[in-house]
Amino acid sequence: MSRMDLLVRRAMFEGREVDVIVNEGRIVEIRDCSAEIDLEEFEQVEDAYGLQLMASMTDVHVHLREPGFEYKEDIRSGLGAAAWGGFGNVLCMANTSPVNDSASVTEAMQEKANIYWPEGPRLFPIGALTKGLKGDELAPVAELRDAGCVAVSNDGVPVKNTDLFRKAMDYAANFGMTVIDHCEDPYMAVGVGVNEGEVSDRLGLAGQPDVAEALQVSRDVLLAEYLDIPIHLAHVSCEKAVEIIRQAKARGVKVTAETCPHYLLLTDEWLAEPENEYSAMGKVNPPLRTERDRQAMIAALNDGTIDFLATDHAPHGMHEKEVEMDVAPCGISGLDTALAATWALVQDGTLSREAFDRAWVTGPAQTFGLPVNRFQPGDTADFFLFDPEEEWVVGPGTMHSKGKNTPLAGTTLKGRVKTHFLAGKKIV
Ligand SMILES: [Zn+2]
Repeated sequence: MSRMDLLVRRAMFEGREVDVIVNEGRIVEIRDCSAEIDLEEFEQVEDAYGLQLMASMTDVHVHLREPGFEYKEDIRSGLGAAAWGGFGNVLCMANTSPVNDSASVTEAMQEKANIYWPEGPRLFPIGALTKGLKGDELAPVAELRDAGCVAVSNDGVPVKNTDLFRKAMDYAANFGMTVIDHCEDPYMAVGVGVNEGEVSDRLGLAGQPDVAEALQVSRDVLLAEYLDIPIHLAHVSCEKAVEIIRQAKARGVKVTAETCPHYLLLTDEWLAEPENEYSAMGKVNPPLRTERDRQAMIAALNDGTIDFLATDHAPHGMHEKEVEMDVAPCGISGLDTALAATWALVQDGTLSREAFDRAWVTGPAQTFGLPVNRFQPGDTADFFLFDPEEEWVVGPGTMHSKGKNTPLAGTTLKGRVKTHFLAGKKIV
């Protein structure tokens, strides 16, 4: 009998100790750990004693900054942060320089990924929806799809022209591509990455109102309904938007939505705490909202109104963030912290385990047609081994991303990825 490729020995899985058998990139069997297994039957044996077996996660909203801003992040460092963060599939946004609005940029991204991470994390570029993200001319969607893009988006720059956005949705749908929508009324969302409300008043900062997000969510959900075309809403952050999505789903609109870990963890009060006052580490677009919004996001993720999570990983140089609030760029570096921070929400009962698995594993993979591991025989062997007890302090020394810009800096998180397999191959 020929040998199997991999045995993962004594991992914790659904409360029991198991052995996992992998061959030719797929799960063959998961069975209760037995003492009399013949290790000679396996090419490779990985001891997982005390570690938890978890399915590899997918992040559909990542800014990798290459080409153009490699000092913030590059494809090598970004995929490294993903691998150590528990992510096996990464979708990267098009707001690079040049913008990813042509096959040559898409192909250059994939080439870099293949050089540095040939076994994965798998990189799936997202093409620009409009040329240069300028919002006035459609990008060549068919060319982008043929080059390997899995979706199109104007993320970072909401499309002002409703007629053009309608045409873009139609055009993308013709090529089987889903539009990922950055929902913000661009005329109203001119603040500095702070929620408009009591905290922005107290700090004397111009705010972004939640209604600016809800307005655009309404527009685009109605367009999706009118055209009968799927739309995916990026980084939903407020209760008003959730209510519109909930009603649209009840009517059968083909809308999916993501929120980000920071909207589940933090509120605009973070910016008002004495040690953080005016710190741009908490400046993000859309902004951190109120406690009421945070509770609404948690409830919506638990009940499925929000389909899944995405990091909106937005690395920046520290010199760019350690400046005044109104001139600092928006964004939080999220790949390193997402898993441990949201796993803590499962541990304290805030998020259901079902919602966690849907948020990071099944939801994004199903929406964008990527491989998914449900630990059934025949599933792709994408998983990592996680030490749920290991504590670590978020900071430059513990993050793999070049972007150290996070409001979680200095906090202690519990849980670390120890090793990660994709299609049965060890990537870290
Ligand atoms: Zn965005």
